[in-house]
Amino acid sequence: MERIERVSDAGARDRADRVADRLAAVRARIERACAQAGRRPSDVTILAVTKGFGSEAIQAALDASIADIGENYFQEAQAKFAGVAWPSSPVRRHFIGSIQRNKARRIAGLFDMVQTVDRADIAEALDAGAENAGKVLDVLVQLNVSADDRNGVKPSECAQLVAAIERLKHLRLRGVMAVGPLDPSTVAPAFADAGKIFDDLAARKPGVDTLSLGMSEDIEEAIAAGSTLLRLGTALFGPRPVKG
Ligand SMILES: *Cc1c(COP(=O)(O)O)cnc(C)c1O
Repeated sequence: MERIERVSDAGARDRADRVADRLAAVRARIERACAQAGRRPSDVTILAVTKGFGSEAIQAALDASIADIGENYFQEAQAKFAGVAWPSSPVRRHFIGSIQRNKARRIAGLFDMVQTVDRADIAEALDAGAENAGKVLDVLVQLNVSADDRNGVKPSECAQLVAAIERLKHLRLRGVMAVGPLDPSTVAPAFADAGKIFDDLAARKPGVDTLSLGMSEDIEEAIAAGSTLLRLGTALFGPRPVKG
């Protein structure tokens, strides 16, 4: 059972073994999809999405040499990050949840990359938080390429948001992120739309190198569309524990 996990050394070892097994299966999927798409597996990074799990999931991912960790909720992340023995090698902490304006400054302080920028006022609040923390924050524009996603900018409004971000001194635009639609038959065209917007942006803007596309269910479609960063939760950790 995934849900009732005792906190013990044996449990931690067990979990690390299972994460390593799942990671091997994920890497095999990535290799097959890259072969089909004529891409190199080394151009696709795995980000471990640890929302809903404890800090031991973050630890297991780091122990498996995953260097990108994603969280959706500020408070949950803050509590869990404090319990992690971070390695001396570089790790990037990504915020991938929807951003409440009143938390944006603190999000900018805690994370290395924020993937879900979809409004100019949110970008400004992140910029203020980054300035406060004495850093330049990497950001992605979240695109809405799906009929059932409430977050993200429409492709037609992307250029305007990009221009607003570029005016801010403490944000560095790295690319775009999108969540696939629920209907599996529409995932490939939606991802292709995001891929095209990313390609246009990358051709014009130096430093734009990140296309964050793909979750556990749609790794193959994401790689076909050019994803450079897969955001994977259940494929690495199994089903998330139910909340509450
Ligand atoms: C939860 C989440 C993921 C991971 O989803 P899985 O299906 O568990 O891989 C990826 N991206 C975002 C934005 C998420 O909220």
